Amino acid sequence: MSKTLIQNATIVTMDPELGVLPHADLLFEGEIISKIGQHLNAGGADRVIDASGKILIPGLVNAHMHTWQTALRGVTSNWTILEYFANMHAGLATNFQPDDIYIATLMGALNQINCGTTTLGDWCHNNPTPAHTDRAIDGLEDANIRAVFFHGSPKPDPKPGQKHFSEIPHPRSEVERLLKTRFKSPGLLSLGLAILGPHYSTYEVAVHDFELAREFNLIASMHCAGAAAKTPDGWERLVKAGLMGANNNIVHGNNLSDAQLKMMIELGVTFSLTPETEMTQGHGMAITGRLLELGAAPSLGVDLESSISGDMFSVARFALGTQRALDNARSKETQQKLPDTSTIYCQQALEWITIKGAQALNLDHQIGSLKVGKQADLVLISAEDLNMSPVHDPISSVVMQTSLANIDTVIIAGQIRKEQGRLIHPHLKELKAQLAQSGQRLMKELKSHAH
Ligand SMILES: [Zn+2]
Repeated sequence: MSKTLIQNATIVTMDPELGVLPHADLLFEGEIISKIGQHLNAGGADRVIDASGKILIPGLVNAHMHTWQTALRGVTSNWTILEYFANMHAGLATNFQPDDIYIATLMGALNQINCGTTTLGDWCHNNPTPAHTDRAIDGLEDANIRAVFFHGSPKPDPKPGQKHFSEIPHPRSEVERLLKTRFKSPGLLSLGLAILGPHYSTYEVAVHDFELAREFNLIASMHCAGAAAKTPDGWERLVKAGLMGANNNIVHGNNLSDAQLKMMIELGVTFSLTPETEMTQGHGMAITGRLLELGAAPSLGVDLESSISGDMFSVARFALGTQRALDNARSKETQQKLPDTSTIYCQQALEWITIKGAQALNLDHQIGSLKVGKQADLVLISAEDLNMSPVHDPISSVVMQTSLANIDTVIIAGQIRKEQGRLIHPHLKELKAQLAQSGQRLMKELKSHAH
């Protein structure tokens, strides 16, 4: 098995016992981290990476993104959530062919790797046919990213005689088919369910979908925010029925009460927030601080590259900055002074995009921190670049200063995917042209429908 030694890095492990290790080495064998420490013996290593002047962090986790929208970058940036529902889900989404899903998913996932994200929660809810689903999974496979593929159903306006999407249970046959075909053996990809949940479905459908996820031991992830709730008392009813628990993931959650949050946190439900899309599209303020007050913490996601940047450091900074602003304003209002120190530290923001993301995707035994036995999902950041140096506090530098330009090396499951600042992929030029063509065709369809 091939052994790779990364030498002389500042290692930000995100492991509570190991912390930050200056001038340290990390050895991985095959896909597994086998040693972390100072002055590891290079003898026997097949490859040595000199990481002097670099910071080594765990690969980032983007817990929630609709990767199928990559060809529509910037299209939804000026839309409110209501415009987004009308023009995206009931409009653009209905014109996607399987190959549109493929190229968007592939290129969106490659961009994630380029930006330092090694694990993606791909929330794919534009699956009108099994062919669409298969091409989405092909895209993730061809990108070689670690991902949970959350399978969801499309949300068009119903045609005469059709049921509204809120009344349609998650298709069991598709779940069974996917488990038998695409997710037969463990690898970089695993399956989750992108269900409607009570915010977007009838209570009966919610019960069906929660039970379905539980039967196959899959994460049931659901949006909760945006338009008015379809079944406002659904959460309490699901808890009473014993259906909510650790394998449930709430996305956004802006409209949940503190009592509802507390009830869910106690049951082990995880929360994936996308503060920038939530706050700009109109879901409401992100619940970052409310979760922290209840002893929980969020994972974070990009949500929509059709609206914002795919870079997880931007996402983390937006989440951190907005919550600090809310906390400072509240302190000034209630105590007539600023808090004694920042209410949230950079360390926490880095947890949100590493170990907390891993927990939300049920992968924290494998990824999210650097520790012997975990997967070699690694990112090297050039800390001597003009915008990074000098580094006094590696965690602050990573969270507050790092941009795509500083992402030097990305490794997933022991495989080098980006090296010396360049994503390793033989056909990027052709693929970019395909993505552009797909986007142009979809936009033309939108315009012709609008007329
Ligand atoms: Zn979403």
